[in-house]
Amino acid sequence: MSHLFYQTRDRRPLLEHAEGIYIWDVNGKRYIDGSSGAMVSNIGHSNPRVLEAMRDQMDKSTFGYRLHFENAPAENLAAKVAELSPKGHDKVFFVSGGSESVESAVKLARQYAYVKGQDSRWKVISRSPSYHGATLGALALTSYEPLTAPFKPIVTDMPKVPAPRCYLDRDNLSEEERGLKYADMLRDKILEEGPESVLAFIMEPIGGASTGALVAPDSYYGRIREICDEFGVLLIYDEVMTGVGRTGKFLACEHWDINPDIIATAKGFGAGYIPLGAMTARQHIVDVILDAGGFQHGYTYAGNPIACAAGLAVIEEIYRQNMMENTTRVGNDLLTGLGRLMDKFPFIGDVRGKGLLTAFELVGDRDTMAPLPTSLNAFRELVEIAYRRGLIIYSRRSRGGLEGDHFLVCPPMITTPEQIGDILGILDESLTELATTLNLPR
Ligand code: PLP
Repeated sequence: MSHLFYQTRDRRPLLEHAEGIYIWDVNGKRYIDGSSGAMVSNIGHSNPRVLEAMRDQMDKSTFGYRLHFENAPAENLAAKVAELSPKGHDKVFFVSGGSESVESAVKLARQYAYVKGQDSRWKVISRSPSYHGATLGALALTSYEPLTAPFKPIVTDMPKVPAPRCYLDRDNLSEEERGLKYADMLRDKILEEGPESVLAFIMEPIGGASTGALVAPDSYYGRIREICDEFGVLLIYDEVMTGVGRTGKFLACEHWDINPDIIATAKGFGAGYIPLGAMTARQHIVDVILDAGGFQHGYTYAGNPIACAAGLAVIEEIYRQNMMENTTRVGNDLLTGLGRLMDKFPFIGDVRGKGLLTAFELVGDRDTMAPLPTSLNAFRELVEIAYRRGLIIYSRRSRGGLEGDHFLVCPPMITTPEQIGDILGILDESLTELATTLNLPR
């Protein structure tokens, strides 16, 4: 009998220890952390340099409230993040997780409009499907039916535009045209809502849990920036999952040379060592708010010295070990390998991603991309099969949470080519078992 509870009654074994890309349970069984937890443990487990940085800081102080003291790790980490962020993102606001980061981004955007006398701007347009966090504000931007349905009456209804899921489209457009088509849906939505009422647009540059590593056509990104500029709408990049190296760049926005107005990060920032996130914003946005009396927002643990010492050590390790180069290299191997699995298993309908944020999606029919029957619960079944075989992957329902089955394969950025081979090997065996269990076409 456990006194703990999370989402369900499902139980997992007790974790014993973890190192690199591996986790051992108390029964001595070893697992490959093929999803870095929930795309968190980006630099692998038990990195000695990060642990040492945390211990060193612990010996000095564990907490100093920000209204009473500055602390050197927070200052140093803010300087490092500003240096690595797009031009103009000189201001960094620390939080303890992704939902807090998204809440902070939205509140900063809103207070910016408020102090500038644009009180009519409050709507934040987001994409469907999407995931931006569990708190009520972030949930208003999230589009994933099972997570949002129970809370509809107490959450503000925010406008949504379709996520650019071109892999489901059966049209004759080029990739470039498709990207522009989806971007222009934002323009139409802004006009429909009334531009004077729209505050911001928030997007995951590469989709996370809700869409499974969805990458838009290149043309999408620049066009979205143009549309936001046309209407004075702030562009918020939710880089909670993509940020801090996971896609092979420090931030995913670098792939398309986009400079968002506000960026939210978390997950890989604390990298599983400690809860840590950050919101960065262009300096002028922050200045206007501070000049008008201050940002009416903050969290008790913000800028905690141990968290910031860990965050700094995580970034130093990413650069010292050239982890982003490795991510690009082995990420390509992983995508190629997943493509080979797609050749072998006709019920894989799509393989996608960038760097080590990759996914594959199962379908009932590749021609129509119709999902598998929901009753098969393939999204749970395959995770359990792989888990029994010692590989952890992460799954969700791909069609707004209601149907469809996708699986994120996102091992830590230190994964070697041989370990990618091990992951693909277990996936191959697991998909074979799934096909037998669910009687899928072979
Ligand atoms: N935004 C994105 C894109 C995410 O993937 C997540 C978590 O999965 C969040 C926000 C929320 O982060 P957290 O669970 O740390 O609150």
